Amino acid sequence: MPELPEVEVVRRGLETHVVGRRIDRVEVSGARTARRQPGGPAEIVARLGGRTVSGARRRGKYLWLTLDGDHTVGADCLLVHLGMSGQMLVTDAGAPPVRHLHARAGLDDGCELRFVDQRTFGGWTVVPLAEALDGTGVLLPAPAAHIGADPFEPGFDPLATARTIRRRDTEVKRLLLDQTVVSGIGNIYADEALWRSAIHGRRRSGTVTLRAVTGLLDHARAVMADALDAGGTSFDALYVNVNGASGYFDRSLDVYGRAGRPCARCGSPVVREDFMNRGSHFCPVCQPAPRRARAARRAVVR
Ligand SMILES: [Zn+2]
Repeated sequence: MPELPEVEVVRRGLETHVVGRRIDRVEVSGARTARRQPGGPAEIVARLGGRTVSGARRRGKYLWLTLDGDHTVGADCLLVHLGMSGQMLVTDAGAPPVRHLHARAGLDDGCELRFVDQRTFGGWTVVPLAEALDGTGVLLPAPAAHIGADPFEPGFDPLATARTIRRRDTEVKRLLLDQTVVSGIGNIYADEALWRSAIHGRRRSGTVTLRAVTGLLDHARAVMADALDAGGTSFDALYVNVNGASGYFDRSLDVYGRAGRPCARCGSPVVREDFMNRGSHFCPVCQPAPRRARAARRAVVR
C-alpha cells in the first residue's frame, strides 16, 4: 500500500504532466472505481468533462486534483484513492489499453491520464472541498476533512502532536498509524521510525517522554524524506509512478521486511510479530518490549 512518499511521487508526476491541461473527455469503465460516487461513473464523467486541472495536492496519503483554479470551500476536486494498487499513468492518447484500466481522461495536449488498478480497492470521486477539521485552515476533499496534518506540512505542529499522542496513552505504534493524529505514516515507516527511536511499538504512549515522542515524529519525517529522495518504497511491485517507472527503495530499510536478519545497530536478529492485522518489525534488544522496558527501569532505580 502506498504511503506518503509514494503518493508524493505520484503527486509530483501529476503536477508536471497534468496540471494546466483541460480534460476533453472522460471514460469510467470500472463500476468499482466509481463506487464512492453517489451518481456512479456517469456523474464522474459529467463533473470532470471540460474542466481544467489546476493543482495536484496531497495531505498524508490523500491525493486530489483541483479544478478550474477554484480553491474555495464547495469547489469540485477529483479525489484519487490509490487503494492497494492504484496507478495514475500518463500516456499518449493512442497508446493501447492495458489490463485493469478502469478510468481515463483525455487531455488537451494529446495525452491521456489513466487510472489502472489491479486489486480495485482504489477509485476516483469528484467531491467538494471543505475546511480541515483540525483548524489548520487547509482545504481538503470533504471525505478527508478529518485527516490530520502530515509531518511535511507547514501547519504541522510536532509538539502539539506529541502531546496528543502521550495523552491518548495507548500503544504508540497504533497512534502513529492513526491518520487523524498524524497523517501519511503507514506500517513501513512507522516500523522504521520506531527502530530509529529505539522505541517498541507496543509501549504505551503515556510512558514515553514528550522529548522521545517528538523525536519519534522527527524520525518519521526523516525516514519518509529519505524514501522520497529515493523515489518511494514498493513491496508488491504494483505501485508505479506517473510515468510508469517503479519506485523501489526497500534496500534502504533498516527493519521492515528484515525478520531474522541482523539489526544494523546491535546485530541481534530482527523480529516480526503480528500487530493490527499486519506485521511489526523491530529489534528486541534496541527496542525492548514494554514488560522488559519496565524491568530495565526498575533495575536502574535499584
Ligand atoms: Zn538492535
